[in-house]
Amino acid sequence: HMASVDPSNLIIVSELSDKDAQSLITTFIEQLPQNIIIEQQKIPLDIQVGVSLSNGLEDRPEKLVNNALYAANSSKLAINFYETSNLERFIEHQEINILLSEAIANNELHIVYQPKVQGDGKLIGLEALLRWNSPVIGFVSPAVFIPIAEKSGLVTSITRWLISNISKQICDWQKAGLELVPVAINISGADLDQENFHEHLVKTLIDHKIEPQLIELELTESASSICHKKALSTINYLANWGFKISLDDFGIGYSGLSKLISYPVNKVKIDRQFIKDIDKDERKAQVIEAIIAMCKVFDIEILAEGTENFAEVDTLIKLGCHHFQGYVFSKPMEPKDIPRLLMIQNVLDYNKSKTLVHRK
Ligand code: C2E
Ligand code: MG
Ligand code: MG
Repeated sequence: HMASVDPSNLIIVSELSDKDAQSLITTFIEQLPQNIIIEQQKIPLDIQVGVSLSNGLEDRPEKLVNNALYAANSSKLAINFYETSNLERFIEHQEINILLSEAIANNELHIVYQPKVQGDGKLIGLEALLRWNSPVIGFVSPAVFIPIAEKSGLVTSITRWLISNISKQICDWQKAGLELVPVAINISGADLDQENFHEHLVKTLIDHKIEPQLIELELTESASSICHKKALSTINYLANWGFKISLDDFGIGYSGLSKLISYPVNKVKIDRQFIKDIDKDERKAQVIEAIIAMCKVFDIEILAEGTENFAEVDTLIKLGCHHFQGYVFSKPMEPKDIPRLLMIQNVLDYNKSKTLVHRK
């Protein structure tokens, strides 16, 4: 049975198994012309099929049609099966949002710090990374919950919590007389869109007697703000106060270059995608070389993210990149371990001393 819902959508209803449905649709698509000609213009025919299977009589027809339409638009593939996981994902997002909104008050978030180093292991900075252990759904990666919090706007409360927590932490390290290195905070676009984000950040640091030079702000590609002008003026304000500005995950998005031109950037963090296996991939090496040359023109520092072995590190040093952050040097560390690292000021020496302590 065939019916047309609107000028661009056609419905086929058939009693078939999923395998047969796949071959029926494939044959159907093959029989259609690739182009149609209207007024001597060749127009490519773009077809997307959504399949929704009913397992019995309990499914309402309108639900089946809706699910098929949802599946058809869910990707650019020609044939898409509706999967309940689409809906499950939606519910999961809602659940994460609700739990996350309570996580701050319930003390479920904590911060770990990953060292940034030179090739010889000398400590040059730390990056604050969030960890969430939910009593309901267990450990959730920030790669999962941050994008959800960015969509819902919850991320701005998380960033505020983060700023106050880090300020207290740095203040404690300062009081203990430790030699400090800059601490990087990841900032989202929604933070930059807030009216008083910069005032709040500056005030919190002044309250804790922390110099802005000790704070690095990492802007990700996903940190695209709604209002470019507002974001730009906030970043300029913060840069004038002496905060270091970094572009995170550089290379994977599409706006990295334009940010490089319009923002007062001090550092570019090259995404792990370009770093992985760089010692074996000539093309990747050429790309990195070009990025390094470009950053030299702007007087911008470069750091390689996610270095996992010394073959990658050595290749990067040869190409002219001298700052690193990655598992080969150190995984993110618990706050209690940072004072000793700050005393030693070298990650490789710190790791050696740790094995000695264990062996004792
Ligand atoms: P990012 O800012 O690019 O942080 C680096 C991520 O790479 C971290 O993942 C880190 O643990 C991981 N990483 C470091 N070295 C290696 C390595 O050698 N190999 C591999 N495979 N991975 C490595 P994490 O902690 O899971 O964070 C993921 C992302 O979540 C971060 O990427 C950042 O975009 C976001 N994020 C984390 N904490 C925060 C936060 O407090 N605020 C905001 N807005 N975003 C955050
Ligand atoms: Mg980062
Ligand atoms: Mg990154």
